[in-house]
Amino acid sequence: MSAIDEVKQRTDIVEVASQYVRLTKAGRTFRALCPFHSEKHPSFFIYPEQQSWHCFGACNTGGDVFSFIMKKQGIDFGDALRLLAQRAGITLSSRFGQDAGRDERERLYQVNEAAAQYFHNLLLNSPDGEKTRNYVASRGFSPKTIVDFQLGFSLNSWEALKQYLMERGYTESELLTAGLVVEAESGKTHDRFRNKLMFPISDVRGHTIGFGARVLDDSLPKYINSPQTPTFDKSSSLYGINLATAAIRQQGTAVIVEGYMDVITAHQGGFNNVVASMGTAVTEKQVGTLKKLTKNLVLALDADTAGEEAMLRGGEIAAQPPPEDTAPRYLIPETPAASLNEPEVRRYIRLGRRVINKDALDIETSVIILPEGKDVDDVIKEDAKTWQYLLAKALPVVDYTCNMKTADLDLTTAKGKSLAADRLLPIIAEIDDTVRQDHYLTKLSKLTGTSYRRLEAALAKYRVDRRTTQPTKEAVAQPRRPLLSSPIEEYCLALLLQHPELKAQSEGLSPEYFENSENREIFVAWQQTDDLSLLKKDKLDPAIWEHLDYLINKSLPANQIEQKYTSCVLRLREKFLRGLETKRGAVLALEAEAGGTAAELAKLEEQGIEVSVQLGEVFTQKRRGRSVAKGVEK
Ligand SMILES: [Zn+2]
Repeated sequence: MSAIDEVKQRTDIVEVASQYVRLTKAGRTFRALCPFHSEKHPSFFIYPEQQSWHCFGACNTGGDVFSFIMKKQGIDFGDALRLLAQRAGITLSSRFGQDAGRDERERLYQVNEAAAQYFHNLLLNSPDGEKTRNYVASRGFSPKTIVDFQLGFSLNSWEALKQYLMERGYTESELLTAGLVVEAESGKTHDRFRNKLMFPISDVRGHTIGFGARVLDDSLPKYINSPQTPTFDKSSSLYGINLATAAIRQQGTAVIVEGYMDVITAHQGGFNNVVASMGTAVTEKQVGTLKKLTKNLVLALDADTAGEEAMLRGGEIAAQPPPEDTAPRYLIPETPAASLNEPEVRRYIRLGRRVINKDALDIETSVIILPEGKDVDDVIKEDAKTWQYLLAKALPVVDYTCNMKTADLDLTTAKGKSLAADRLLPIIAEIDDTVRQDHYLTKLSKLTGTSYRRLEAALAKYRVDRRTTQPTKEAVAQPRRPLLSSPIEEYCLALLLQHPELKAQSEGLSPEYFENSENREIFVAWQQTDDLSLLKKDKLDPAIWEHLDYLINKSLPANQIEQKYTSCVLRLREKFLRGLETKRGAVLALEAEAGGTAAELAKLEEQGIEVSVQLGEVFTQKRRGRSVAKGVEK
C-alpha cells in the first residue's frame, strides 16, 4: 500500500477538521462556519461517509482531507501528507520525509562525491598525505581496500576544499548545506575537515551522503562526522552498507559492528556482510534498512561493555543517563532518552552500550561477545577463524539474556527457580511473535521445573500490566477506514498521461472532478506541462511519484482513444455533478427542517438548478456520443 493510502486509512476528516472549526452534527453530516470565507450562517459541510467536505457558500468548492489541510494551512500536497502522517503516527520513508527537493539532493550527492574524490586523490598522491598514508598502511589496509572504501585525506588548511569545490561551480551555500564548510562567528566560512583521515559514507544505493573523519594524533574527539544534512542522517546511515548489500542478501545475515576500522578490516578479510552503526545506538531506521535485506542480525559487542550490562532491559533506559560517548542527538529516536515517555521507552532495549529498537526482537537478532580488550579489527587481523567461530556461536539475544540473567542463580533451589522466572518473564513478555514467545516459555518451564501453564498465567499478568501502563500500538492507532477508490479518475488521468495529443481536448475537465487529492495534484501539474520528466522533477512532490508511475504504466486499450477519453470526461463530470447534487440535497433538507431563511433556501435551490442544467448537458452529450459511435460503426 502506498504511503498516501495508509495515511488516508488512518485519518478521519471529521477529527482533523474539528481541530480547526466547530463542527455540529447534522443528520449524516457535520456543519460549521466555513473556515475559508467569512460567513454568519454555516454553509460548510463534512461528509464522513465520503471523507469529503464542501462549502455551499462563497467558496462553492470541496475536496478531501488533503485539500482541506492544504487550503487551511496554506501548504502543498507533500507537506499536507507529512503533517497528516505525523498525526496518524505513520513513518514516511525518508524520500517523502525530507523537504529538500530532488534537485537539491542530487546536487548534494554530487558535491559530496566531488569532495570524496578530492580527499581520496590527496591520500593517494599529495606530499602532505604522507603521514596518513603511513598510518593507513600500518593498519594493514591494502591499496584495493583504500580504493574500495575511497579513503581520503583532508589538508591542514582552512580553505583548500572550499576553494577546490567553488572553482568547480558549487556555491558556498551548497557547501554549507552539505556540511563540508562551517560558518564562523565572523560570518566567514572555512573547511570543516582539516588534517584528518576521511571516510566517505554512502547510502544503500551508493550515493556519497557524508563523511566520518579521524584525527591523526592523540587529540580528542578521535572521530568527527558530517552534521545532519538533507542527505545525511547519522541515525539512519550504516557505514559500509553500499559495499555490504549483496553479501547480506546472499548470506542472509547482517553483522553490525561499532567502527569504521572494524568494517574495513572485515571486508578486507572477505567478510562483506559487515556494517557499522557509527554510534552506540542501533536505531529503528537502521534496523529498518537491514530488515529489507535479511531477517538475521548479529550484533558484535565489546567484552568490556558486555558482561552484566549487555542484556535486554526493557523499560530501563530512561532511568539511566546515556553513556558518555553517546551524544544525545544520536540516541533514538533523535530525542534524549530522558525525554521519552514510558510507552516510548518500552519500545527500546538496552544491549551493552547499544540501545536497540524492540522491533529487532522480532527479527532474529543474535549477539557475539568479542574477546576481552579486543575489537573486531583486532580479532580479524589476528585470526580470521576466531571471527568465524564467534559468528557460528552467536546466540539469539533472548537466549543470551536468559543465560546472563540466571548466571548467578542456583537453579536447583526453589528460590533460584523463582528468581529466574521473575527475571525472565518480563523479557519474554516483550516478544510479540507468539511462536517465539512460546519457545522461550517452554525453555523457562524446563529451566525452572515449573509447569508451562503456570508460567503462561504469570506471563498474562505481565501482558496485562503492559496494557494498563501503556497503550499498545494497536490501541493508539485509528481504526482503519476503507479506501475509496476512483477508477474513473485514474482511467482518465492515465489516458491523458499516456496520450499527450489529448491535451487539446482537455478544456472540459476541471480539477474539481478529481476527488482524490493526489489525482487532482497530478491533473493540475499536467495542465501546466505534459512533459513527463518535467512533471516529476518540477511539478510534483516525491510523495506522488509512486502514484504517477502507476498511472503512466497502467495498461489501456489500444484503439478509439479519443472516443474513450470523451466518454470518460463525461462520466467524470456526471459523477461530480451527481455527488454535488446528493450533498446539496442533504443540506437543503436539513435547512428546511431547521427552518432556514428564505434567502439560504433560495440560494441552495438556485445552485441545485444550475447543477441540474449541467447534468442535462452531460446527458445530451452522452446521447450524441452514442449516436456518433453508432454512425462510426455503420
Ligand atoms: Zn466557504
